[in-house]
Amino acid sequence: MQTHILGYPRIGSQRELKKACEQYWSGKINLDDLHQVGAAIRQSNWKLQQEAGIDLIPSNDFSFYDQVLDMSLTFNAIPDRYQELIAKKEIAKQELYFAMARGYQQDDLDITAMEMTKWFDTNYHYIVPEFKKDQEFKLFSNKALDEFLEAKKAGILTKPVLLGPITYLVLGKEKEAGFNRLDLIDKLLPVYIEVLKKLQDAGAVWVQLDEPFLALDLTAKEKEVYKKVYNELKKQLPELKILLATYFEGLKENLDLAVSLPVCALHIDLVRAPQQLQEVLDKTPNDLTLSLGIIDGRNIWKNDYQDSVAFIRKALKSKTSNRIMIAPSCSLLHVPCDLDLETNETVLTPEIKNWLAFAKQKLEELATLKAISEEDDVNAVATMEKLHVNLDALKSKKESQRIHKPEVKQRTARITKKDAQRNKAFSERKSIQHKALKLPLFPTTTIGSFPQTKEVRSWRAQFKKGTVNALEYENLLLEETEQCIRWQEEIDLDVLVHGEFERNDMVEYFGEQLNGFVFTKMGWVQSYGSRCVKPPIIYGDIDRPEAMTVKWSSYAQGLTSKIVKGMLTGPVTILQWSFVRNDQPRSETCNQIALAIRDEVLDLEKAGIRIIQIDEPAIREGLPLRKTEWQAYLKWAVNAFCISAAGVSDQTQIHTHMCYSEFNDIIEHIAAMDADVITIECSRSQMELLDAFAKFEYPNEIGPGVYDIHAPRVPSVKEMVALMEKAKLVIPEKQLWVNPDCGLKTRHWEETRKALEAMVEAAKTLRVAS
Ligand code: GLN
Ligand code: ZN
Repeated sequence: MQTHILGYPRIGSQRELKKACEQYWSGKINLDDLHQVGAAIRQSNWKLQQEAGIDLIPSNDFSFYDQVLDMSLTFNAIPDRYQELIAKKEIAKQELYFAMARGYQQDDLDITAMEMTKWFDTNYHYIVPEFKKDQEFKLFSNKALDEFLEAKKAGILTKPVLLGPITYLVLGKEKEAGFNRLDLIDKLLPVYIEVLKKLQDAGAVWVQLDEPFLALDLTAKEKEVYKKVYNELKKQLPELKILLATYFEGLKENLDLAVSLPVCALHIDLVRAPQQLQEVLDKTPNDLTLSLGIIDGRNIWKNDYQDSVAFIRKALKSKTSNRIMIAPSCSLLHVPCDLDLETNETVLTPEIKNWLAFAKQKLEELATLKAISEEDDVNAVATMEKLHVNLDALKSKKESQRIHKPEVKQRTARITKKDAQRNKAFSERKSIQHKALKLPLFPTTTIGSFPQTKEVRSWRAQFKKGTVNALEYENLLLEETEQCIRWQEEIDLDVLVHGEFERNDMVEYFGEQLNGFVFTKMGWVQSYGSRCVKPPIIYGDIDRPEAMTVKWSSYAQGLTSKIVKGMLTGPVTILQWSFVRNDQPRSETCNQIALAIRDEVLDLEKAGIRIIQIDEPAIREGLPLRKTEWQAYLKWAVNAFCISAAGVSDQTQIHTHMCYSEFNDIIEHIAAMDADVITIECSRSQMELLDAFAKFEYPNEIGPGVYDIHAPRVPSVKEMVALMEKAKLVIPEKQLWVNPDCGLKTRHWEETRKALEAMVEAAKTLRVAS
């Protein structure tokens, strides 16, 4: 039985790659320096795995930006707009690569970056391949081979990892009409074969091809292409051992197809889909090696050895051990590097730390699982010891009073249908609210945050360091809030916000104040390129020891006679952007958060806040990968939002906000959230996103963003009026609000002032015209 992993985090445990890339981009280090940092990370990752005793160590899982972009460069799938750059300059491949990822603005060239989007249902973002009708491919970069040889030189015969050809094509986009990108396979496959041949000639025995799409809903055509491609690979490379990796879902109806493909090994995700094991075992031919993904590559909890060993033994009953591999469920890219770096016991107590495993710890788990399952007598005592330590850790988690709070569990068990329903229907609430709030037609507002200047961020840093005390810090923030209120009054916005200066991040801020959350110091996970996030860890039952935002909102409301909108993050978004406990359904954890937010909403209402916004930008992100599971998810997710919102009286107006997303296929669920007002990101799509609302005859109020806050550009009054005129064509004007796309946190005050002044002016123009 062999152990292997599908990939290791490449940012470096101290975020070395992030730092080096950013230094390179700003001209502080040169290409050689950058490459040295990359090489050091690769060496250190290989060494770690070697020391942990991993049998098959991957290579080419490293990337300077993104593994999908690596493939595009490998196959010369370089969009035409970069040709000028290639022609004009003797540009290094590395620079071209970064230009594709980040755009290129230098001298007289201004080339936009390639699009970026979410990697399946993770928080990682990949660079979307762009294809044209007469797309050609040729071998352009030898990265996979280079890294294989580099490891070989270091004495490690690795298993190169490549994105499989079908997944690579499906992840891309047709940039012109008149063709289907899957049809490019005939041109692409020969280049794949060329790459694989080179690896084989260089001594590679195993190659891992990642095909996560094989575990998702497939069209008949896609299934055909899978057969064709893998048969062709077998024909061309009969000696090469291909490990076909599926993850993030179970194979389900694609199982027959998957086990029929002529590959040497098939990797399955037993964390997401543990129930598939028996069926897979029943159906795999004897000569197909099965790789069991039993350690969670997406979450940070210790593995349950007893459980895993049961899985492995089950597999060993139907297959010989040389036909079994064990591995994490997916690449470890999605978890932080090393728990050993968490040395601050006040941040992460030893008790909680003992429940966790990051990437490095997962390597040890894998080796131990192998030892336990193989029961080799030589190490029997040491192995049993490890099993007991694991059992103890899991037991302490199961029984911990820090995790399990009967009051919290009882409260979610008592949730009724009524808790998720406002008193009156929106049709009645509408006039009650209009009478109470007395807002003009086309009311203006913002999404919540105002520019967080260097100064504001430095106060927070100093407060954390201890050089500014709590009172001083608070006073500085209150002053900033007051200025923000005055500023909004001057601009003449209708519904003001306090500005969110006290928040580092919209999830972390709430997590820090709720019971059941912990934070790490070094738990960074790559989000895209050099960007990393440090998700909170939800380890226990969640409740709210005290009000979280009332102080800020009521202070702000006390300063003005205009209405100040309270500002909260919704339960689904808090859940989605955290590492979530795995000992109860996500829906249960979400309900706990929902009740905490509900209490906060009610406290805000009691404190005289008459409009409360509950942001849910991540609701769509939570959608399961398989369509058949959408309904179940949407039901509990929407319900959790409703629980958080529905406790208020009919007079109190509930807003929600969602960032740019497709609404067409989930519009009835958005409507079921029953927010009195929804603000959406709309300006970049020229109001097209509104069509879904129009078609559905969405009854509640909508604020389609008219100011794109993602760029410093200031939109003109005319432009914003035109956008709203477009909106008016599909949504009755009585339902419309005027607001920016999203929060203004990353903008500067100067451009924000100009843009918002123009926005208010636009609203006034619209009122005169109506
Ligand atoms: N209220 C938040 C803000 O304005 C919303 C951020 C978001 O949608 N991502 O910053
Ligand atoms: Zn947003």
